[in-house]
Amino acid sequence: MERPHLRSEWREGLRSRRWRLWAALLLLVLLLLAVLVFLAAEYEESRDQAALEQDAAAVASDIRGNLVRNVQTLQSLHSVAPTADSWDGPAAELLVQHRELVRLEWRDAQQRLIAHRDTPFLSDLFGYLDRDQALPEVSLACDNARRLSGPAYSSSYFWPLRDGKGLEMMEMCLPVARAGSPSGFLVATYSLPGMLAELTNKDLLRGRGLAFNEADGTRLALYSVVPGSRRTFTARTVLDLPGHTLLLQLQSPRLVRGLFPNVLTAVIGALSLALLSVLFLLGRDIRRRQRAELDVAEALAFRKAMEDSLVTGLRARDMQGRITYVNPAFCDMVGLSAEQLVGTGLPAPWWPPELVDEYQQRQMVRLAGQVLPREGYESVFQRPDGTRFPVLIIEAPLIDAVGKQTGFMSAILDLTEQRRVEDLNRTSQERLQATARLATVGEMASLLSHELNQPLAAISSYASGTLNLLEQPAGHAAEVGQVQADLVQAMQRIGEQAERAGRVIKSVADFVRRREQVREAVTPQSLIDAIQPLLGLQAKKQGIRLQIHIAPGCPPVLCDRTMVEQVLLNLARNGVQAMPVGDPSPHSGLRVLRVDVGQDRLHSGEAPGGQPQKAWVAFSVTDHGLGLSAEVQAKLFTPFFTTRAEGMGLGLSLCRTVIEQHGGALTHEPAQPRGTVFRFTLPVAPA
Ligand code: ADP
Repeated sequence: MERPHLRSEWREGLRSRRWRLWAALLLLVLLLLAVLVFLAAEYEESRDQAALEQDAAAVASDIRGNLVRNVQTLQSLHSVAPTADSWDGPAAELLVQHRELVRLEWRDAQQRLIAHRDTPFLSDLFGYLDRDQALPEVSLACDNARRLSGPAYSSSYFWPLRDGKGLEMMEMCLPVARAGSPSGFLVATYSLPGMLAELTNKDLLRGRGLAFNEADGTRLALYSVVPGSRRTFTARTVLDLPGHTLLLQLQSPRLVRGLFPNVLTAVIGALSLALLSVLFLLGRDIRRRQRAELDVAEALAFRKAMEDSLVTGLRARDMQGRITYVNPAFCDMVGLSAEQLVGTGLPAPWWPPELVDEYQQRQMVRLAGQVLPREGYESVFQRPDGTRFPVLIIEAPLIDAVGKQTGFMSAILDLTEQRRVEDLNRTSQERLQATARLATVGEMASLLSHELNQPLAAISSYASGTLNLLEQPAGHAAEVGQVQADLVQAMQRIGEQAERAGRVIKSVADFVRRREQVREAVTPQSLIDAIQPLLGLQAKKQGIRLQIHIAPGCPPVLCDRTMVEQVLLNLARNGVQAMPVGDPSPHSGLRVLRVDVGQDRLHSGEAPGGQPQKAWVAFSVTDHGLGLSAEVQAKLFTPFFTTRAEGMGLGLSLCRTVIEQHGGALTHEPAQPRGTVFRFTLPVAPA
């Protein structure tokens, strides 16, 4: 009762462990996927960031380059415009061309204003605050410019306008010379938004935000913002100018990417999912296999329990005759363990030494592919302690899964018990027969009393006659001689009758007594020879042909010669009598009496108790008379049953007794095409 419970618990444990493993695996794969996606996104972002920073550097360098070009343009303004009046025209033109510039001033070496021009695009730039407010920046730039003998920039500053707005501006001061001598400064006022709008490459800025910032992040000037997106990349780069440094900020929208940011991650993701599903399928397969294995194990255990509980021995052999399997019952039978048996070949360890040759031959025949008898065959096995026992072996070919024969499977039944019961039956049968014989003798006694009455009556009458003669008074000599002669004759008659009675009694005693002590080896030929003359005479009288056939090499039998001769004679005589002269036989060819003698294959087997094999010789007497009616058959062996007027009805019953006393059997069956066959067996005499 414990086992199924344990098994289900074990299965439960196995199942929960399996689920935990699966969950861990799934988690790991998902984690891997997440890390992968994260890393891929990181990589994409850093790539975007690097590209943005490169673009920012490019924008800064554009601005710087354009500022340098502007310096050259401004220098050329002074090389062609020597006077304040002639300066104004080109300056105005320059302001139209460069929208980033909001004012140009020509100042002398003391920074006093000589000429100036405002941009036409911003009206009233200095309407709210006076230009003078910016002078500190201008002088700062020009001082720097003088010191550097080149362009210098002021720091940027916020310039409020009238309508509440304002503008971030920056001064650039450039020392100018005329004909080799310094002629003051050219001050150019830059609008920072203008710089962003005019000095940059628009292609780089599409969809991006560009601004000048202060170091603390305060916005100075804005060109554009990233449209509609809250998540942005930001790249900052410094715009280094002589005298001032500006911080340029470029922003770009962060692209919203899918779950899988690029093809590689998508492919790896798909592969991981495929891996997961393959693992799942594999797991299912393993589970099915496990279930099948469990089923097979259970079936095996069931089969093993069955084989172990059998009392029939089981033995499997391969095609070379080597043992491949034995069950416990077989091991018990032959008294050897399975380890000792499996792998052993021929001759088998349980073969009795003197029968090895015969068994080996039998095995050869079997291995040669002979059809095995379904009803099996009997054999004798020997245990290691030398004891022997009879067995019944039923053999069947072992066929493997592809239909090929791989060996033989045998079931072995120990016949010891069966033989013991048979022996018991036989002895009780014999006892019964002895009793029956005694009964028969009783019945015979009444008949014999009749038989004995005659001689006894004769004896008594002779005896009284003798007495009469003796009582007569003695006469003359001649008379005395006659009386003496009569007395002698009477005495002779008495003696004869007594002898006759003695013979009758002896014959009865002979029938009743077992005559085993007179058994001898007799050849069938000598038995036939003994009865043939007598039988021949009788047959000839009735015109019956006698056919006698003794199988060549037929062994001698162990028997009481006289009794068996009597049996043969009896059967043959019955046969002859069954074919009377007047029998209207349609075939004259049927007037034949046949006696056959040969070794009996059917009943030759092993004797009980492992004694040496006992062989039998069968005698059959065939007539072609009218056969046995059912009524006659029923009473055939009953003592005193006869259909013949002169018959005694003891012939067959005595025949059977004699044959059974020899251990054989007397049977009969219809002959072909008609008539009866009486058959009996006798044991072969040991060599
Ligand atoms: P008996 O020969 O003295 O009559 P048996 O015991 O030998 O006694 O035979 C009994 C009866 O069996 C015979 O009377 C006969 O009817 C029958 N019987 C015996 N042998 C044969 C035979 N070969 N064919 C036909 N009937 C037979």
